[in-house]
Amino acid sequence: MLSLSGTGIGRGIAIGRAIVLDQGHNDIPCYRISATALSGEIERFNHAVDAVRADLKRVQRNLPTDAPPETSAFIDVHLLMLDDPVISQQPVQTIQEQQQNAEWALKSHADTLIDFFEDIADPYLRSKKNDVAQVVGRIMGELAHSPGKQPSDLATLGSSLAEQIIVARDLTPADTIMLRGRNMAAFVTSLGGPISHTAILARSLGLPAIVGLHDVIDTIHNNDLLIVDAATGTVLVAPDEPLLAQFRELQQQHLRHQQRLTLLKSEKAVTQDGEAITLLANIELPEDIEGLRSAGAAGVGLYRTEFLFMNRPKPPSEDEQYQAYCHVLRRVEGPVTIRTLDLGADKQVDGGRPDRETTATSALGLRAIRLCLSEPSLFKPQLRAILRAAVHGDAQIMIPMLSSLRELEQSLALVGEVCAELEREAVAFNPKVPLGGMIEVPAAAVSADLFARKLDFLSIGTNDLIQYTLAIDRVDDSVNYLYDPLHPSVLRLIRTVIRAGHEADIPVSMCGEMAGDPAFTRLLLGLGLRHFSMEPSQLLEIRQQVRQSTLAGLSGQVTDILNCVETGSLYDLVDQLNQTDSD
Ligand code: PEP
Ligand code: MG
Repeated sequence: MLSLSGTGIGRGIAIGRAIVLDQGHNDIPCYRISATALSGEIERFNHAVDAVRADLKRVQRNLPTDAPPETSAFIDVHLLMLDDPVISQQPVQTIQEQQQNAEWALKSHADTLIDFFEDIADPYLRSKKNDVAQVVGRIMGELAHSPGKQPSDLATLGSSLAEQIIVARDLTPADTIMLRGRNMAAFVTSLGGPISHTAILARSLGLPAIVGLHDVIDTIHNNDLLIVDAATGTVLVAPDEPLLAQFRELQQQHLRHQQRLTLLKSEKAVTQDGEAITLLANIELPEDIEGLRSAGAAGVGLYRTEFLFMNRPKPPSEDEQYQAYCHVLRRVEGPVTIRTLDLGADKQVDGGRPDRETTATSALGLRAIRLCLSEPSLFKPQLRAILRAAVHGDAQIMIPMLSSLRELEQSLALVGEVCAELEREAVAFNPKVPLGGMIEVPAAAVSADLFARKLDFLSIGTNDLIQYTLAIDRVDDSVNYLYDPLHPSVLRLIRTVIRAGHEADIPVSMCGEMAGDPAFTRLLLGLGLRHFSMEPSQLLEIRQQVRQSTLAGLSGQVTDILNCVETGSLYDLVDQLNQTDSD
């Protein structure tokens, strides 16, 4: 038996067989082909291309009925790429003229094509390099006589994965969203950190997951029996019977705990001393509202709309977005906070796999509101769709990653422009939609009072706030260990934002992962937070924490924590805070 450890996401235990996704063909063989073997090498290459084409068509014909609707168009894009002369013809010439082996010939042409897409300014076209890489990966797999599953196959795996554990080097948010509805038991990845979007999605799917396992791909093979223990971040490979029995029992205990929590669903989120706390849900896709209902959320505190834009060849039209927002607004009682597009960094469109070399800095690049302001053709249809949909429910607009007042002014001006357009066109819309901002950049947090004067609400995005304050890339597993929500700078910034909201008399919520972690509920209550938004899978646990807390006295204890100069004592103080008052 082998034991591997990484960063656990969630608390559950999964037992199942591994499906290893084939994502890397880094060791491309390079050798010379003798003149007499050239025709055989060309045949080998053509055969691989034909096999991939046949495989893609087979997959397309047999798509499960519950596969995401865009999957077929996605496969069409790959079929078109496969027929591109750069992929299917030029390597043949290179094999012939330079007597290179098929893999190397393919690689050299594919690299040129990837570089070409890489240089395109338009993010949609630029992301096509990911499709090229996936198609090339398939041909390489055929050439190696080992066609592996690619991430884009996830949608085609059917919905009978209850006993299966996905093993991958990395899963982009776009890959992970395709896992929705597949019912797999868990997933484990080599890369990723606790607040990477992949981890967030694992929480939203309510799945145990382990990220940051480093060499997991090399040590786990298809069909290996695995135990995934998210609470300890451990993967056990090929466990023996006694160990399996022990973990099955733990799994049952966890299920019993979850069942007990469901009894809280319709209980009020009120502290022991009678203060009502608002518990909202974070959603990624319209389908997620089912989870929100069963957890008894008071509304949606964060709708990550960028997921509507992933795994498809073109962005959704204004009307398609309108339908998606209406779907949520009509079904959710309470406010629905629709966050405008937060694409960029690790969240790429079209199944985008960020280029590892640039990921480390792209979190500081053109993402979220920066991208939207630079591409009004992307932003304005979304604003129009939200304002139109807001006729049918309690919608709020939330702008992500604000760092300067200028960005806020530009956003407000665009909203005004869109309202005027809709008015002129006599299209029904709601001109009074509250407009809030995410405070997730330290610059915005320290000047939150200024933002608060121009906005209807603030929401603290601790995932990015921690990333930017502590200078740790949230998707870089090598600096995961520095992720610390209790860092004094983070706590002080949170306090600053909450105070700014109170002084401006506008609500402040928190929608980062910290809001859904029961270890921080009392601390946040003590800091004055009254609105929490989290993945639905966390909601019942937080409700329990709220119901066991007494506000009186919390702020004094929190002041001690904020003034603590010893890291060890700080953790002790937080433990003490969490131990008091339980019923
Ligand atoms: C955050 O940054 O805390 C947040 C909620 O947004 P996201 O995780 O989507 O960046
Ligand atoms: Mg964020």
